[in-house]
Formats: sequence, C-alpha cells, structure tokens
Amino acid sequence: MEIRENIVLAPYTTFRIGGPARWFLEASSEADLAEAVLFARGKKAPVFVLGGGSNLLVADKGFPGVVIRVANRGIREQQDGEYGIFTAAAGENWDSFVSTVVARGFAGVECLAGIPGTVGGTPVQNVGAYGQEVASTIHSVRAFDRANLRMVDFAASQCDLRYRSSVFNTSARDRYIVTEVSYRLRLHGAPQLTYKELTDAFPDTSVAPTLSQVSKAVRSIRRKKGMLLVEGDPNCLSAGSFFKNPVVSESQLADISARMTKEANLAGESAAGPIPHFAAEPGTVKLMAGWLIEHSGFPKGFALGAAGISSLHTLALVNRGGATANEILALRDQIRKRVLTHFGICLEQEPVYVSGE
Ligand SMILES: Cc1cc2nc3c(=O)[nH]c(=O)nc-3n(C[C@H](O)[C@H](O)[C@H](O)COP(=O)(O)OP(=O)(O)OC[C@H]3O[C@@H](n4cnc5c(N)ncnc54)[C@H](O)[C@@H]3O)c2cc1C
Repeated sequence: MEIRENIVLAPYTTFRIGGPARWFLEASSEADLAEAVLFARGKKAPVFVLGGGSNLLVADKGFPGVVIRVANRGIREQQDGEYGIFTAAAGENWDSFVSTVVARGFAGVECLAGIPGTVGGTPVQNVGAYGQEVASTIHSVRAFDRANLRMVDFAASQCDLRYRSSVFNTSARDRYIVTEVSYRLRLHGAPQLTYKELTDAFPDTSVAPTLSQVSKAVRSIRRKKGMLLVEGDPNCLSAGSFFKNPVVSESQLADISARMTKEANLAGESAAGPIPHFAAEPGTVKLMAGWLIEHSGFPKGFALGAAGISSLHTLALVNRGGATANEILALRDQIRKRVLTHFGICLEQEPVYVSGE
C-alpha cells in the first residue's frame, strides 16, 4: 500500500474544501486496513476514515494524522426465499449499487437513489430520504475493529440505527471501519411510496409505479433541489443537508407556536402559519430545519462571502467558489444563532467536521 504525504483533501470531498492530510492511504482489503491502522499507531497519529467525502467539512488546515480511504470493491449475492441478500464492499459507490439492484427488481432502497458517497457510509448515519432509511434493509455490517485489530460482524439490531445515527457515529465512534454491508432486499417488492413529494409525482393512483420509475422520480426531485451531484451545477458543492431536522416534544412544539403567535400579535403582523412537522417517536415531532432557517430570515441563495445557502434548497450550505471551511462555519454560526433566537431550537450539524482536534 502506498503511503502518500501532505495530500490536499478538498478534491476528495463534495464541498471541495479542506487542507492536507499528513498521511493518506487507500485500503483495498482487510489486510490493508490492519497495516494502515498499525502505521498510524507507529506514528502516534490520529486516524480519519474517508468514504466518498459527501458528508464532511474538512478544516482549512487539514488533518494532522492518517486518512484511510476505504477503496475495497465487490458485490456478492445470496438468495433467501423471495429476498436477495446483497453484500457490498464498503468502497462501492452507493448510487451505482442502488441502480444495479433496482434494475434487477429488488425493492428496499429505491428511494435512496442519487445519494452520493460509498456503501460504507450508509450505516454510519443511517442514510435516509423520501420515506426510506437503510435501517429497514440492512441485514448485517462487517467492520474492522481498530482497538483489537480484528474483524467483527454486527447484526442490524446491534448497529442501533436511528435518525442519522448508529453505533458507528455515537457510542463506538472512531472505533470501527466498515468493510462490508449486507442488505436484504425483496425481489419484485412494491416501491415505498409514503413521502408526499414522491406520491405527488404519481397522480394516477390506478397504475402502480415500478421500482425504476420511483427511483427515477426521486432523482428528478433531487435534481430540482440541487441534491443530486451534477457536474457544473453550482448548488452541488455541498455536503447535502447541513443541519439535521430537529426532533422536539409535542409540548415544545405547542410552546413555540404559541410564542410565535404572541410575537406576531405584538408586532401587528400575521403569524407565519403552523410550523410544519412530522410525527416521530411517540410524544415527539420532527420539524423541518429548512423551514426554520427560512423563517429566521435566510432565503435560498443567501450569501456570506464565498459561503452560501443553495439557491434551490435552504438546508444545503454551498461553496460558491473558493470558500474556506471557516467561511462555511461562520455562515453556520449565523444561521444557528438566529434560529435559536427565533425558535429556541439549537440546530445540530449533520456533516462531520474533520480537523484532528
Ligand atoms: C448532494 C448531497 C445529497 C445528500 N443527500 C443525502 C440524503 O438524502 N440522505 C442522507 O442520509 N445523506 C445525504 N447526503 C450525505 C451523504 O451523502 C451520506 O451521509 C453518505 O452516506 C456519506 O457517505 P460517504 O461515503 O461520502 O462518507 P464520508 O463523507 O466520507 O464520511 C462520513 C462519515 O462516515 C464515516 N465513514 C465513511 N465511510 C466509512 C467506513 N467505511 N467505515 C467507517 N466509517 C466510515 C467517516 O469517517 C465520516 O465520519 C447527501 C450529500 C450530498 C453531497
């Protein structure tokens, strides 16, 4: 395995932002991973595991340790009655994997088309979109344990997959390197059509859309929002949604609504209308971070230096050309502060900040 030094990370990220990694290794096998981790131990250097770089903001000064890029490949398939169990290497491109299984008539990931990054990144934050999450199809995850230098197999139930979270980015953060993910997909299963924006794409309810049609519709919705990586589209230099949709209690939602109405009455204005929300765990609701941002005074296309808000989607912060990580962080802080003042909600950042600190 080649050990490269002082490799600028910006080209390895969808934001196209970030300074150099002190060391940079591409691991194509489990043996490579062990070698890379031992190399970092020898240097007493921190490790960062890189997939497709689509959920990262790398610091301007870069990462002072060893970046291990997961680059293994391959997909295996096993039949399980009317299901197929597809085991994909972590370094495989997620969107290509989705296209492959959808084209073959396997249901379960069709709404996750167009999400950039690798297979290995999907269990880390339990990737989800348009009413579907990988939590509902992940069968097992194989990972390299950096603490004990051995492989470990996780059943889906051991991954603690929740909204944008798993053991891999919470309790066991920085411990495991995912090497393979197995998904259990139903052959000729019906596509998941629960998300309103997606059902609206199929107004004729007398004809059931195919998996491929649903996947195509998802891509087209994503494209209109700048959430599909399209060469040359300025809204694509992002890490997708920059903030998670906040989950609050039902009583908190009622308090916020009452406060907003009171403030609007005092100002002699009409209230912004009901706060859009979805039911979450019992007693809680999920709010739309994009709506909160927009109603805190940040329109689509808002700019702060070379950092900005996508002109198509309020939730995506974008690199408008030559932006630094510090500029993105300054915009993040401004948004967070105003949403907190306006709604009393502290927005949580979704992309991982890579700085070695
Ligand atoms: C335009 C756009 C649209 C997006 N839309 C969505 C969306 O709809 N839904 C959604 O959930 N996300 C979305 N994302 C975010 C992102 O694509 C996903 O989170 C993706 O799964 C990240 O995978 P990655 O390989 O790029 O990981 P990276 O960005 O490289 O890494 C992200 C985190 O995962 C860790 N990681 C990556 N690979 C491994 C591995 N093999 N083992 C252990 N840890 C690993 C990294 O250390 C880091 O902590 C979007 C991003 C963009 C740019």
